[in-house]
Amino acid sequence: MDKYDVIIVGAGPAGSTLARLLDKTLNILLINYVNEGKPCGGLLAPDAQKVLAQFDLTLPKEVLVDPQIFSVRTMDLETGLQRWYQRMYINMDRSKFDKWLLGLVPENVKVVKGRCTGTKDNILSYADEKGKITRVISKTIVGADGANSIVRRSYFKPLKTRKYMAIQQWFEEDKEDVTPFYSCIFDVKTSDCCSWTISKDGYLIYGGAFPVKNSRRNFEIQKSRLKKFGIELTNPIKIEACQVLRPTGKNSFRCGGNFKGWDVYLIGEAAGLISPSSLEGFSSAFNSAVALSKAIGYEDGLSRYKRDTRKLRCWLILKNLKCPFMYNQFLRKWIMKSGIDSIEINSSSF
Ligand SMILES: Cc1cc2nc3c(=O)[nH]c(=O)nc-3n(C[C@H](O)[C@H](O)[C@H](O)COP(=O)(O)OP(=O)(O)OC[C@H]3O[C@@H](n4cnc5c(N)ncnc54)[C@H](O)[C@@H]3O)c2cc1C
Repeated sequence: MDKYDVIIVGAGPAGSTLARLLDKTLNILLINYVNEGKPCGGLLAPDAQKVLAQFDLTLPKEVLVDPQIFSVRTMDLETGLQRWYQRMYINMDRSKFDKWLLGLVPENVKVVKGRCTGTKDNILSYADEKGKITRVISKTIVGADGANSIVRRSYFKPLKTRKYMAIQQWFEEDKEDVTPFYSCIFDVKTSDCCSWTISKDGYLIYGGAFPVKNSRRNFEIQKSRLKKFGIELTNPIKIEACQVLRPTGKNSFRCGGNFKGWDVYLIGEAAGLISPSSLEGFSSAFNSAVALSKAIGYEDGLSRYKRDTRKLRCWLILKNLKCPFMYNQFLRKWIMKSGIDSIEINSSSF
């Protein structure tokens, strides 16, 4: 059985970043299962742009998609209100973004395509593409395997957090008929979270996060309610779905734990780190990876990691304060009507 200094499960933004930042003298294994069907908006928000700038990284052209976004059309399906807000996101191809980040991982890291299938103490099993099982051992195991983390489920009690089903469909965009756009959709009838449409290289994606019960049905109901705004979405070419977390308090996160002779750490969404208001998760994935890269190798690594992510966890909990203004029907109506921060789009603007 091969032995490693560090084993990382999952090469999303969190896992690839940690693998890139860890000490180059370490013998590291990065196990990744490529999930082509994972939905994502693929928008790089200002917080995540800031971290990439701190890494001194700039995005290659291949990762970008057309169009680039600087305004969001916000629609309330119940009241029929809509407003435009200025937002500085970078519109990306999510799968190319992950591949680019993985390509930055240095050579001391052994990357294997495989799915972690289980753990026994500090031994991890993974299945390769042909189903062959390999067992590996380490004193430092890192779960960077997203919302439904097998590492978290193997070693820790379930998180006390809200779980939603994110569903996304892709449509071919009719260039004659539609101006490409980005929208944020609220609809009290079908979800207490949000939905979106995003144009990407000739496709329109429509997705949303829904309470798990009846999620598929509510997705379809909401899609049909978009007709109110003249948006008719038919003949999807692809559908994707996954679990998404919305943290509420300190028990919504798990940093890791010390076991008899080995440590387990969690980063990114596996640790529950994602914004409950916007579902933005890249910046938390990057920031937790940075914090852990500075903690691994120390005897008190877990305390250091907890200390260095405390601000991030508090920040995410505080984001819940923003939620009523986005998700409470009455407050949202008031904000949208007030015109605070919105851009007027009518003929008198010109
Ligand atoms: C619908 C939706 C839209 C979103 N849109 C945005 C957005 O526009 N902008 C934004 O900033 N955030 C967005 N997020 C959040 C963002 O996707 C995540 O927070 C972010 O990707 C977390 O990064 P991560 O590396 O922790 O986990 P992930 O990106 O989930 O990566 C985990 C990796 O681990 C792999 N893996 C999982 N299980 C195993 C296993 N058993 N063995 C081996 N590998 C495994 C997965 O295949 C994946 O490659 C969105 C989330 C959802 C659900």
